[in-house]
Amino acid sequence: MLSYSSKCIKPRSFSKFSRNITIPTIGSKAKLLINGEFIDSQADTFTKVINPATQEVVSLVPQATQKELDEAVLSAQHAFKTWKKTSILSRQGVMLRFQHLIHEHLDTIAKNIVTEQGKVMNDARGDVTRGLQVVENLGGLPDYMLGTRLEVSRDMDTYTVREPLGVVGGICPFNFPAMIPLWMFPVALATGNTMVLKPSEKDPGAALMLAELAIEAGIPKGALNIVHGTKPTVEFMINDPAIKAISFVGGDAAGKAIYTGATANGKRAQCNTGAKNHGIILPDANKDHAINALVGAAFGAAGQRCMALSTAVFVGESAEWIDELVEKAKLLKVGSGFNPDVDVGPMISIDALKRAESLVESAKIEGANIILDGRNPTVEGFPNGNFLAPTIIDNVTSNMQCYQQEIFGPVLVILRANTLQEAIDIVNSNRYGNGSAIFTQSGANARLFQENIESGNVGINVPIPVPLPMFSFTGNKASFFGDTNFYGRSGINFYTQLKTITSLWRHEDVQSSKPSVNMPTMK
Ligand code: NAD
Repeated sequence: MLSYSSKCIKPRSFSKFSRNITIPTIGSKAKLLINGEFIDSQADTFTKVINPATQEVVSLVPQATQKELDEAVLSAQHAFKTWKKTSILSRQGVMLRFQHLIHEHLDTIAKNIVTEQGKVMNDARGDVTRGLQVVENLGGLPDYMLGTRLEVSRDMDTYTVREPLGVVGGICPFNFPAMIPLWMFPVALATGNTMVLKPSEKDPGAALMLAELAIEAGIPKGALNIVHGTKPTVEFMINDPAIKAISFVGGDAAGKAIYTGATANGKRAQCNTGAKNHGIILPDANKDHAINALVGAAFGAAGQRCMALSTAVFVGESAEWIDELVEKAKLLKVGSGFNPDVDVGPMISIDALKRAESLVESAKIEGANIILDGRNPTVEGFPNGNFLAPTIIDNVTSNMQCYQQEIFGPVLVILRANTLQEAIDIVNSNRYGNGSAIFTQSGANARLFQENIESGNVGINVPIPVPLPMFSFTGNKASFFGDTNFYGRSGINFYTQLKTITSLWRHEDVQSSKPSVNMPTMK
């Protein structure tokens, strides 16, 4: 029979329907999670979480005080002492219960994402599901944690064990409020670390709900702490010596600064940053599939996915399909994510919207053709939302601002090439290396693309090739700072270090004694 080896994890009664999780109420303050308790911050500075479809203030996010940040780390340090000693099977058991609870509360979390982030409901469900899959994959934890062993000499063995690092930190972006926290804390905790996690100040609700469920699943006090804030919280995490490693997902400026600061302080760091993902369309592609894939991947989630296909490279005669692409994009409905007929929700903030609009304007000034202009759409019932309808810019060249910068909105820029090789050269000249895709019916062209393309996540007739968690997310070039990727085996390696033991148990030391068959006389 399996037993729970530590006092700190007790199997909880696990009913089919667990209790309700806390949903932020209008105007409420986001709580900190420190030492297993959800507490109010003593902060005097707050960031407003704003519903991007209405401008309604959903909640207030505190800038955690120095004392609160210190307490979060202390509680994680304290919890690490016992959590690291728990058996692998008990940590796996927590993850199995956690995935069950996420399934049960998936729609509640998704609704919060629609409110705080603006995604359409089905896409918000996908956000939770892609994170949930990381937790489900931790069912294979024992295999991931296996070490190696070799008898290196007579009676001498060398073997490796994979050990946690200690307290680790996670810093999240706004665009996947459930998936990205789930790339981080379940892997960190399953491998025996404890964590201080900072959700995005723009939409922390999903991370808080997931933390509640993790506690219900059996995560002990202090193993997971949630702190809030902006740059000061991040700087604290970079500089506090108790935090041994930092996982970051977000934009270039923060990612580069965090990687540089964390590694200069001797910490491990993995920083996934910005992107400009290209889709190459060959004339031999299945036209309907290619166009549908482009429309979905460019405009879904209002273009606010790090793997959005924001750039299309039409090769040769495939450019004749551009009119059809425009017609399909026009059919997408813009509006509130709670309306089941809507395809494109609002952008996260007025600032993000203005920035995207000005990049569209810069394309016009620089000589590109705006063949579908989605600026200032009328959205019935939501006059104040941050809406940008699908926008397509043709005849873009690689020196233009709209190509150089990640727009991170529902804007597709189109370049043209004469050959596949020319298209590959365009993609490879881009500084980013997050993802790219090809649409073709030719295996030979697909192979040529796969072998020569530099991007780290590659799709062949697949528009958003985000790897499932039995693999890892392998963006490269300017899309990634670090060398050990998120989730999958790489994720396990990031949060653990190897210890290599060489032991000698000499053969001749075996005590040789004969069994006695005589009545013991105790003499
Ligand atoms: P962001 O960089 O503005 O914020 C990310 C996190 O960093 C937040 O928690 C924020 O509080 C913090 N932060 C922001 N500015 C900071 C600074 N100057 N110093 C320290 N910390 C700072 O990113 P965002 O707008 O929330 O997210 C969008 C970006 O994330 C896009 O560039 C997108 O491509 C990228 N992203 C990348 C991936 C990937 O896997 N490559 C996945 C999702 C998002």
